Amino acid sequence: MKEADVLVIGGGPAGLSAGLYAGRARLATVLVEKGFTGGQAATTDRVENYPGFPEGISGPELTERMAEQAKRLEVEFLTAEARALRPEGARWVVETDAEPLRGRAVIIATGARSKRLGVPGEDRLTGRGVSYCATCDGAFFRDRRVHVVGGGDSAVVEALFLTRFAESVTLVHRRSELRATKVLQEEILRHPKVRVAWEAQVVGIEGEDRVEAVRLRYRDGREEQEETDGLFIYVGYEPNTGWLDGAFPLDELGYLITDERLRLPAPGALAAGDVRRKGLRQIVTAVADGAIAAVEAVEYLTVPGHTWGGAE
Ligand code: NAP
Repeated sequence: MKEADVLVIGGGPAGLSAGLYAGRARLATVLVEKGFTGGQAATTDRVENYPGFPEGISGPELTERMAEQAKRLEVEFLTAEARALRPEGARWVVETDAEPLRGRAVIIATGARSKRLGVPGEDRLTGRGVSYCATCDGAFFRDRRVHVVGGGDSAVVEALFLTRFAESVTLVHRRSELRATKVLQEEILRHPKVRVAWEAQVVGIEGEDRVEAVRLRYRDGREEQEETDGLFIYVGYEPNTGWLDGAFPLDELGYLITDERLRLPAPGALAAGDVRRKGLRQIVTAVADGAIAAVEAVEYLTVPGHTWGGAE
């Protein structure tokens, strides 16, 4: 079994920052990531609100730089999917789809994933015109028509990104006002390629082998079918906490509940980033979480007599 001082589960900004801080404390640190490094931030084309980059920076570049910084501090990166977490004496064992890992502290930074709409056609046509990642799939829609669902920052940012390729972008939002940040609202509402279908819900996705149309139901009860080539869904996120199988308390939405020092109610276990209950989920707050959690783990492992308070 692989041994470490600190196990970091998740390679998004929170995990990468936790790795960086644990590595700087010269603790043997292993970071486990099941897919690509960078998490959701790496699927964002342009990050314009991370301080220090006045012109913006691409999500993949920003997170690649974070990974590079952690690797320089000898953080070991493993590609594996965490499947379970259990205490073993004063240690934590993480079962993965590869070898198990044992650590003296564990920082859970498994983030959140896109919510599904839950409408007919969605599962069948995912990857065939239905997408949750404009950065990944946008270029396939050059000179095509696309629809985007949602009214938050993600939907608006990604709809704007899609205007680079698509002939037309229809934003479908269930209310008459967007939730997104004002600057983004201004940009989308004046964009010549964008139309907003207000007070509308996507209730079905049609197509044989690929998306051909979406069925919209308006608040007044009217239903309309609109032809389209792609549907990008941005209706929020849900936390990746299922693998923990009830090991720690979750809030009603499934997020981990930490105290303000990001401790979970078991010595040596912490949570950082989007996976935990918090007010603001941004890259800047995720990296802050990673730092706080790692410094707490360092104290736990290196300061004699350090005690572990329970979560709130
Ligand atoms: P969000 O803020 O939760 O917005 C989700 C949107 O989806 C809302 O407009 C919501 O409508 C709509 N929605 C939810 N369920 C729906 C359903 N079943 N059918 C139709 N519409 C549905 O999520 P987000 O935009 O992904 O953002 C998540 C977090 O990341 C936020 O804190 C956001 O600020 C942050 N973020 C920031 C940036 C940035 O700063 N540039 C970029 C991306 C994300 P209602 O408005 O009616 O509730």
